[in-house]
Amino acid sequence: MHTYIIVGGVAGGAGTAARLRRLDETCRIIMFERGAYISYANCGLPYYAGNTITDRSRLFVITAQEFQQTFNVEVHTEHEVIAIDREANTVTVKNLKDGSEKNCSYDTLVLSPGAAPFKLNVPGADDKAIFPVRSVSDIDAVVAKLQQPNVSNAVVVGGGFIGLEMAENLKERHMQVTVVEALDQVMNVIDYDMAAIIQQHLRDKGVRLIFKDGVKSFSRTDKGLIVKLMSGTELNTDLVILSIGVRPDTAIAQKANLELGRNGAIKVDQYFTTSDPSIKAVGDAIEYPSPISGLPVSVPLAGPANKQARLCADAIVKGTCRPYRGTIATSIAKVFDMAAASTGLTGKQLTHAGIEYVEVVTHAGNHAGYYPGSRNLTAKILFSPVDGKLYGGQVVGYAGVDKRIDVIAAYISKDGTIDDLADFEQAYAPPFSSAKDPVNMLGFIARNHIDGSGKTITWKQISQLKEGNAVLLDVRTEDEHELGAIEGSLNIPHTQLRSRLSEIPADRPVVVYCSVGLRGYVAQRLLLQNGFREVVNLTGGYKTWEVVKEEIKQLQGEYMQKEKESTESAAYDYSRKLDACGLQCPGPIIQLKKEVDRMAAGERILVSATDPGFAKDVRSWCNLTGNRLISFTNDSGGIEAIIEKATALSTTSGNQQVQVKQNPSATLIVFSNDMDKALASFVLANGAAATGQQVTMFFTFWGLSILRKRNPGKVSKDFMGKMFGMMLPKGMDKLSLSKMNMVGMGPLMMKSRMRSKRVDQLSEMFAQAKASGVRFVACQMSMDIMGIKAEELLDGIEIGGVATYMEAAAVSTVNLFI
Ligand code: FAD
Repeated sequence: MHTYIIVGGVAGGAGTAARLRRLDETCRIIMFERGAYISYANCGLPYYAGNTITDRSRLFVITAQEFQQTFNVEVHTEHEVIAIDREANTVTVKNLKDGSEKNCSYDTLVLSPGAAPFKLNVPGADDKAIFPVRSVSDIDAVVAKLQQPNVSNAVVVGGGFIGLEMAENLKERHMQVTVVEALDQVMNVIDYDMAAIIQQHLRDKGVRLIFKDGVKSFSRTDKGLIVKLMSGTELNTDLVILSIGVRPDTAIAQKANLELGRNGAIKVDQYFTTSDPSIKAVGDAIEYPSPISGLPVSVPLAGPANKQARLCADAIVKGTCRPYRGTIATSIAKVFDMAAASTGLTGKQLTHAGIEYVEVVTHAGNHAGYYPGSRNLTAKILFSPVDGKLYGGQVVGYAGVDKRIDVIAAYISKDGTIDDLADFEQAYAPPFSSAKDPVNMLGFIARNHIDGSGKTITWKQISQLKEGNAVLLDVRTEDEHELGAIEGSLNIPHTQLRSRLSEIPADRPVVVYCSVGLRGYVAQRLLLQNGFREVVNLTGGYKTWEVVKEEIKQLQGEYMQKEKESTESAAYDYSRKLDACGLQCPGPIIQLKKEVDRMAAGERILVSATDPGFAKDVRSWCNLTGNRLISFTNDSGGIEAIIEKATALSTTSGNQQVQVKQNPSATLIVFSNDMDKALASFVLANGAAATGQQVTMFFTFWGLSILRKRNPGKVSKDFMGKMFGMMLPKGMDKLSLSKMNMVGMGPLMMKSRMRSKRVDQLSEMFAQAKASGVRFVACQMSMDIMGIKAEELLDGIEIGGVATYMEAAAVSTVNLFI
């Protein structure tokens, strides 16, 4: 009887054991697992930490006992294989429960010991609040820590997919989370421009990101655990997740003198045979040539480990059957509301392998834009400029990321080309995709590039081309251009191009760009057919450019922040503080305006807020009011901004000279008496008032109900007036929702939700608007028609006609009808 010994009882090990038994009922299979469990879902561990998986038992695919019964495998948990005697074909096994050791003989040994997380060799690294995330016991320890009182801060060291999954799940537990990453981006399985999108999403979700920094030491103080970074920044935390990567867990293989690769991975052939014919190896611990670059790679992913297990068992039992082709490392990770996926090689890996490549990017909807719910995704491929052979693909977005990456992966693993993507026939109906799916679009763009009919360049190449005297041509509309453009670009909307060709120097190369690349391509074709010889289109358009530049700015801002933290620079001094944490939009802006109104010119205030909308609002507010934004940080779920009160009507904001508008105004016509619409109108009115605008709210028809007193006393009315009086809601507390009213349950739920979210109730918003000087005008004509009398209205309401409205509207920059 043949005896198989398997080391490691999770993905690769348990998979091989099960397949061996299915193929050979007569053999003896012994499986040793160092940990307490076999066949558990390591991929689910972060979600258990975040309480998404609430039932711990769901992490176990099968118990040791069930495995033993089902597959007749002798399973020994908490048994570590500590040595291999290749001469004697035996392993030495240590029982971790009692410390005893014994030798076991094998005919074939299968190693699937996986990969172990890197440890940090720095002072204080043995602190009990520093956790790796590899096994169930690791995650049990994290969960136990999270259940202790006053645990609210976490530092995740490493921004790979496990680190980000942990960051998300710690956020789910309402922790303040900081990710420290040594590189300049998260997830190095995708390129910088794709990672930039994920980084912005992480910040939006309140995760602080620190790049190009590493841990120097850990130390304990009475404040908790201090993580000291190389830059000098100190992070005060309650726990640390260490996820700086993994390395093959191959100490026994090394001791047994098996041939290892550069990073300690076990070298195997296409049948998983190691340098010893009696020993096979699979999973995270092996190294095998990449089918794309030919260079040896070890890929720590569950999919390859499971598939290798099956093939390995086949090779053991059936002899040389189907050879292993290698893995192209297709992976995906959920990052809050987004997903980031990758297959094949990244730009950096291709450069490292010395492979020349081109990349193209598309931004498109996950399904037809006209069908509700379409979400944008960004997709990219990297391919050979010669024959279009696909080398890699990356997709980032909110929905449909998985199916796009799987299609690209399928073609890469079959040595496919860009034309395969162009021709790929997807199942199409508007709710699922587009007639030209983003995957097809990538194929089209790439084909145009190779043919020369639509050459593209990347965001990285723009600066080189600018130095080379190229003209940068923005073919978006004037409005889009004004909102933001690449510095030094000439704006000619693509629809005007034919009549304005003379404005473009014909003797210089032209770099065309639009928002995502499509109008750029149209313009490029037009120029090429009108005598312009060298015209290239920015792939991914301004959207990619903007996201990358924003990230680069963030990185620079982060350095400024670090500098601030370590030196307490006087440049960031302030004399007042405003805590607007917990307030929802427009609460923080309103409070800020009140405080700034009380300040002297040149005085500074530090505002803290947790409303994510404040991040954008504070910039806009400063731009509108002319006050100066001195510093801005958005970290650990909180936003901090220092604002300096303007000294004159005209002041500088950032690098730009901002002209403060004299008495800008806004007018809102409130026609509806739906509670949600009334809320929206007061949010806007208060927001506008907070930016210093003179606001007029003109209430007409049903909107008049909002202004009604609850108990106006006796009011004399005609019959129709009485009828309307009975049917219309008596004041703002009695309004219904436009949707989900549910016989009055909806408004109650909405009010309670607003209370829990610390959003002011309608009456409070009204009082706030009044205090900010908002004018309330009731439409005389509507009052007459509906029989509403002046004495029924709240105090301080003006009654006016259309002229009152027109007068206000004439000087307003904003006019809204709600
Ligand atoms: P493992 O599954 O790690 O199993 C190796 C086992 O061998 C371990 O249990 C170890 O205790 C045991 N062992 C080691 N040495 C010995 C010894 N000398 N004696 C006895 N036993 C020993 N991959 C994905 O594709 N998608 C994901 O979403 C994903 N998420 C992940 C999330 C987390 C938190 C982690 C840790 C991994 C994740 N992975 C994911 C990776 C995936 O789990 C691994 O690639 C896969 O489990 C590798 O299988 P393996 O058998 O090689 O190693």
